[in-house]
Amino acid sequence: MLLNEEICWAAVRERDRFQDGRFLYGVLTTRVYCRPSCASRRPRRENVRFYESWQAAEADGLRECLRCRPKQAESRQPDWLAGLCRRIEARCDEPLPLAELSRMAGVSAFHLQRQFKAATGLTPRQYVHQCRMALLKTGLRVGTSVTEAVFAAGYGSMSRVYEGAGAALGMTPAQYGKGGAGLAITWAVMRTRFGLLLVAATDTGLCAVEFGAGEAEMVDRVRCEFPKATMTPLAQPYPQPFHDWAAALEAYLEDRRAVLDLPLTVRATAFQTLVWNYLRTIPRGETRSYQEVAREIGRPSAARAVARACASNRLALLIPCHRVLRGDGELGGYRWGVARKQALLDWEESPAAGD
Ligand SMILES: [Zn+2]
Repeated sequence: MLLNEEICWAAVRERDRFQDGRFLYGVLTTRVYCRPSCASRRPRRENVRFYESWQAAEADGLRECLRCRPKQAESRQPDWLAGLCRRIEARCDEPLPLAELSRMAGVSAFHLQRQFKAATGLTPRQYVHQCRMALLKTGLRVGTSVTEAVFAAGYGSMSRVYEGAGAALGMTPAQYGKGGAGLAITWAVMRTRFGLLLVAATDTGLCAVEFGAGEAEMVDRVRCEFPKATMTPLAQPYPQPFHDWAAALEAYLEDRRAVLDLPLTVRATAFQTLVWNYLRTIPRGETRSYQEVAREIGRPSAARAVARACASNRLALLIPCHRVLRGDGELGGYRWGVARKQALLDWEESPAAGD
């Protein structure tokens, strides 16, 4: 097995439990190794090394994390599990009834259900569904029709996919592909220390957070992104969950120490996802250059594309593209104005009350 570091690092950033059992990561500063899904604080990329086995990690002088217990987890895993997961991934575009999975694993359907769930936290059926979702998202992003993508992902019928797809994408597949048709977006404009801030959301997450000079112009921008969605303005007191999301943004703009980890509903290419996910790991008070981001996501020659991905971000603060600068220390661009970028950086770098 040859580890693809980019994929491994993405799995660690997302705490992707599907990658558990595939590799381990060690943190050179703490001298501990973990499973990809470990709940401990995410390390910095430059301190991380990937291992194929706990033996390899220990040979490097690292010790087992007491939180995710990689050695114990491995002994709990039935020996057919890893092979079965790989085969499901490879064949998830086919119908995979339980009887077929149990034949592939070489154990009874009863044992398969029970042991699969114990080891992964998911039923085999849910695992197949997750794999299909991953395939479906890729299909939609490259512009196939929804029907084609659904059938290519092994769903076999349109109704099956709607059962579970909405929750994972934040929009149903058709909405995801078609400018938000049928999508209900609510929005409000907040007054902040950096100017007016438009906050727009579906019921599953924030879809636009944009600074601007006037309400009409800001709402128009969201309309361009989701031309077929219905847009409803909200008044105080906001309904839930909008209330909590707006309150979290307000709290951040009051006291920059608040954590902005809110659900997002975005349309993104695979590359934008890679860049935006990375941006969300840059701590307040720190900056990176476009070049550094490109290197960190494993695309060292893509600095220009990184700059474009930053420019196309519609979620100010939540995806902190203001923390990315040009390599020569110049500010670079900012969708909401370079002066605002500088003001945000100055404010974030100054100590918050209680820091
Ligand atoms: Zn751990």
